[in-house]
Amino acid sequence: MKVKRVAVRFGPDRRTVSDVMDQIEYFGLPVREIDSVHSIGGVFSEAEFVVLIVHAETITGDRELARALFRCRRENDSHLFIVFVSETDDFETRLACIRAGGSAFFITPIDARRLIDKFDSLVPECHREPYHVLIIDDDHEQVGYTALVLQQAGMVTSVASDPRNIFKILVEYKPELIVMDMYMPDCTGMELATLIRQQEAFVAIPIVFLSIETDMDKQLEAIAQGADDFLTKPISPDHLTKSIAVRAERTRNMRFFIERDSLTGLLNHTHLKQRLAEEIQRGERIGQNVSFAMIDLDRFKSVNDTYGHLTGDGVLKTLARLLRERLRSTDVIGRYGGEEFGIVFFNTTAEQAATVMNQIRESFSRIKHYAGDESFFSTFSCGIASFPTLANATDVSEASDRALYRAKDAGRNCVVIG
Ligand code: GH3
Ligand code: MG
Ligand code: MG
Repeated sequence: MKVKRVAVRFGPDRRTVSDVMDQIEYFGLPVREIDSVHSIGGVFSEAEFVVLIVHAETITGDRELARALFRCRRENDSHLFIVFVSETDDFETRLACIRAGGSAFFITPIDARRLIDKFDSLVPECHREPYHVLIIDDDHEQVGYTALVLQQAGMVTSVASDPRNIFKILVEYKPELIVMDMYMPDCTGMELATLIRQQEAFVAIPIVFLSIETDMDKQLEAIAQGADDFLTKPISPDHLTKSIAVRAERTRNMRFFIERDSLTGLLNHTHLKQRLAEEIQRGERIGQNVSFAMIDLDRFKSVNDTYGHLTGDGVLKTLARLLRERLRSTDVIGRYGGEEFGIVFFNTTAEQAATVMNQIRESFSRIKHYAGDESFFSTFSCGIASFPTLANATDVSEASDRALYRAKDAGRNCVVIG
């Protein structure tokens, strides 16, 4: 399988470039090297997007090469990006880099996190999670049609033909929207909408009625009961998917702000703890291990005292970025508190989690942080505990906290299993 992106160095061996490549590698991005522009084709066989890292001086004295790079960029259009690095910042150099097809220009000292943030803005986000829609309807034919239309538009659907099952689905799959029929044998859609809205956790989920009801008064009544929209059958696939996608997107954005920490974009304390409890419940149900790792930055107060709070914030963002880059998409990452982070690993023993955390700890200790022209390194300590060794989420979280303290006592920059 192809990886999403790879960083490729090109050009003569230079300290600035090799430092940048080392730093990129600590973040877990694959790095490669080519010695000719024509070798780029080989890299595309293993990655969808290529970010070429080139020293500015490689092209300032070589017009032929600058032209070759520009052509290469154009031929590979939106799949190849060229990032130039340089020790000097002057107009001529910048212009030459743009003419050689450069998408970005970084001057030393180069903060690898900013570079990777730049990669993110260049490389389109192609792995967006599909919207998840819950369909509640007793008419199997109608359900089949609605589900098919939504799936063809790239959405994921769950179906509840019995309204009694909806809460299980709402908790487990966290759909971004509910499409509901007005008339069902056991209860009406309006009763069900009221029932859903009574629960605090679901007050915000959009409910869209899809019904043959054309009586405007009835439609308004449904909206008064908490429905967000009323679509009348028959409806064109295009109309259905568009009305649903726009609302599902809004739910997703709102959830992001409610659940996430604004500095790092990771889950906040409340939602991380909630996910830990949910994952442990799931682990119990299907007989899987769940591990929890608590991270605390070492002597972070002195980072703030020496380099200022803003630089400290940069270190927190870098660690968040590293965790996102290095962990699996199924691992749940959160900011537990000020300079503390937590990770929930599903189907993972404490020992397996410790192996992963030790690799990340090692990489983090090698990442350079910058405050103006000064650079420094930072480390973290980590405590791990797991289910079913410990019986529930509270015990797991307390044990990981105790393990973290032992890691601090043991001299910091280490991982301890509780
Ligand atoms: P230890 O190795 O024992 O963990 O030492 P420490 O200095 O990291 O621990 P301490 O708990 O004394 O200090 C934590 C510091 O983290 C103090 C606080 O200013 C800083 N901090 C907490 N939240 C933030 C934040 O959002 N941004 C910045 N820059 N600093 C923060
Ligand atoms: Mg702390
Ligand atoms: Mg600390």
